[in-house]
Amino acid sequence: RGEREVTAVAEERADRIDASTPHIARIYDYWLGGKDNFAADREAAEKVIEATPAVLPGVRANRRFLGRAVRYMADQGVRQFLDLGTGIPASNNTHEVAQAIDPDARVVYVDNDPIVLAHAHALLTSATGTVDYLEADAREVGAILETAAKTLDLSKPVGIMLIAILHCIPDEDDPKGIVDALLDAVPAGSHLAISHPAIDQVPEYSAKAEASLTKSMGMKVTFRRREQVQAFCDGLELVEPGVVPAQEWRPDPDVPEPGTATAMWGAVARKP
Ligand code: SAH
Repeated sequence: RGEREVTAVAEERADRIDASTPHIARIYDYWLGGKDNFAADREAAEKVIEATPAVLPGVRANRRFLGRAVRYMADQGVRQFLDLGTGIPASNNTHEVAQAIDPDARVVYVDNDPIVLAHAHALLTSATGTVDYLEADAREVGAILETAAKTLDLSKPVGIMLIAILHCIPDEDDPKGIVDALLDAVPAGSHLAISHPAIDQVPEYSAKAEASLTKSMGMKVTFRRREQVQAFCDGLELVEPGVVPAQEWRPDPDVPEPGTATAMWGAVARKP
């Protein structure tokens, strides 16, 4: 899908944006210090901040984890990425990190939200290399892979990014089935990067944060335990140091990480 086409679709879809209901992508944007949010989003975001002191360190640690995970995969030779749950553009988006390493790296972004779609042209125009954007729900794995295959060579290793999205897929929608179907479509040497809000790092806060987010958005979010995040990687080789607080996953010695809890799990795994 070309950039002009995305812009046209974004304009056509802009009327689907509901500013009065808090939305996960805009709440997350507010936490990261972005400007693409409405009053209802800010109110919901502030309630979660009241519920847990981990949220602001958590979202920042999550973005740094995203960057390190992409760099790690690129170091393993991965040159194409399928990034589900694009989010509103922030600094160090997947394609920027990947294309700084190799300008020919290819990235396909997927998100189901019209707000994110409205920003997709920014992702495409900032790219030096090949970037595509699909509007799809992560549950539609077949359709996603079929379209992604127009941009990515699925016979070569792919870095599959599920960064802060799986909590939006409740257990009854079989998130593990989604992960498995994505990994089944790519060859050995492909990698999976997951980050996920934790229910078990600071249990005294996280249950409140989960409930607050679920209530204000009217959409169920599911924070998960470490073993549940690890189970998403079953059948793959967990890269050292395994499933750890996101800020502890191969930290960059030059970038200070918070000493406080982030309540985010991070992991990278390789398909054998
Ligand atoms: N991966 C980015 C953004 C995380 S915010 C980062 O970590 O910085 C979560 C994003 O996932 C939002 O943009 C939201 O719209 C998207 N999302 C949530 N549920 C989704 C689903 N079922 N299918 C596709 N995208 C989804």
